[in-house]
Amino acid sequence: MRTDIAVIGAGIMGTSAALSLAEQGAGVVVLEAGEIGEGASSRPGGFVVPHFSVGSPAEVRERIGDDADRTLQLAGGSAQAVFDRIRTLGIDCDASQTGWYHPAHSAGAFARVRAIAEQWTALGFPGELLDAAETEIRTGARGYAGSWYAPTGGTLHPLRYCRGLADAAIARGARIHEQSAALAIERRAGRYLIRTSKGELIAEKVVVCTNGLASELVPPMTASIVPLRVWQCATEPLPASWRAHLFQRGECLSDTRRNLFTYRFDADGRLITGALDAAGVSGERAGRAMARRLARELRLPGVPRIEYLWWGDSSLSATRLPATLVVDGGVLSATACNARGIALSTVVGEAVGRYALGGERPPVTVLGDAARSTARLQSRLSRFYPHFAPLLDWLDTRRSHA
Ligand SMILES: Cc1cc2nc3c(=O)[nH]c(=O)nc-3n(C[C@H](O)[C@H](O)[C@H](O)COP(=O)(O)OP(=O)(O)OC[C@H]3O[C@@H](n4cnc5c(N)ncnc54)[C@H](O)[C@@H]3O)c2cc1C
Repeated sequence: MRTDIAVIGAGIMGTSAALSLAEQGAGVVVLEAGEIGEGASSRPGGFVVPHFSVGSPAEVRERIGDDADRTLQLAGGSAQAVFDRIRTLGIDCDASQTGWYHPAHSAGAFARVRAIAEQWTALGFPGELLDAAETEIRTGARGYAGSWYAPTGGTLHPLRYCRGLADAAIARGARIHEQSAALAIERRAGRYLIRTSKGELIAEKVVVCTNGLASELVPPMTASIVPLRVWQCATEPLPASWRAHLFQRGECLSDTRRNLFTYRFDADGRLITGALDAAGVSGERAGRAMARRLARELRLPGVPRIEYLWWGDSSLSATRLPATLVVDGGVLSATACNARGIALSTVVGEAVGRYALGGERPPVTVLGDAARSTARLQSRLSRFYPHFAPLLDWLDTRRSHA
């Protein structure tokens, strides 16, 4: 086949890029190794968060200098962009733009949250700082020093969102081939030839949205990624009497602990939460640990039964910021995962789609040798994390009640 732009990977970023390209009138063919949303995009808890998982606006400025303002505008507006997209395209994915809460587990953590929130507000993004009492009233979770509320955040069903983006791209002329892994990209007479198990695709440019995976395609991108396994679960639907003091409108929460506590309800009243993969907290045990944690943190009258348990691999960049890499002038690779990538992967996908057609370079960090050596070091250190996780959890718990 021949096309203008080949997109590799049909997760949230790849489908968002394909949609942006198709909207601009380009010929687009998407190659997906499995099914649409096969990778991280079918695994999220569904929390739509308009901020970075790590790093304040001031720290982003220090790290990336000139491009910081464009990056901050992109990130700060990312959740709004997701819900606007959903509304405009009419995607049916249980979307609820009712806000994201970021409660602080200690006074020190609240001081940092306050500083970050104030910096985002100064950039023009809405937010509210809540004291301990107001945090408990609004979230139902007790023991926090205070919280930050970002009203543009919210929740959605991630796989249905991803499929909705794919449907919209197809409706605008993009072709998506599932079960079609790209095996290699070669330069051929000024174009790019992509080999797959089923045939060859020739394109003017290639946009690689494999979330840093597929080392055979863009090895320097894969070398810049630190993998992180995350467990998720959904309980059985909770009786109304159990959830009267908890979220009612589709809001979500993720706190400041290292093994962060998260919660939201799905449309059927199931509680959804997650946990990092740690020694002794894997598989069925992870499910039991998460159910007990939900009962404790949310003061439930009992431990809820887990109905669904799953895991997924996140890709972290060394800086925890979205990252792009351009190889050979025409192969663009990007990742914006960092375990909080629904919103960022959407807007970075759109930005990469515009760039592929001659638009401005996406305002995110460009990966270089330093990022790769930091990622190598972090990958080595992350192997020890599971053994230290219980100690870090204990330290966070101790501080929260100090
Ligand atoms: C367990 C878990 C929970 C999460 N929870 C949240 C959350 O609540 N909120 C949030 O904002 N973010 C969350 N995230 C992060 C979010 O899921 C990701 O940031 C986002 O889905 C990344 O999208 P992507 O398109 O870049 O990658 P992916 O969805 O991984 O897409 C990459 C695609 O490329 C395909 N592919 C790979 N190699 C090839 C090849 N050679 N040829 C063709 N195709 C290929 C894969 O099959 C895959 O479909 C979570 C992640 C995990 C793992």
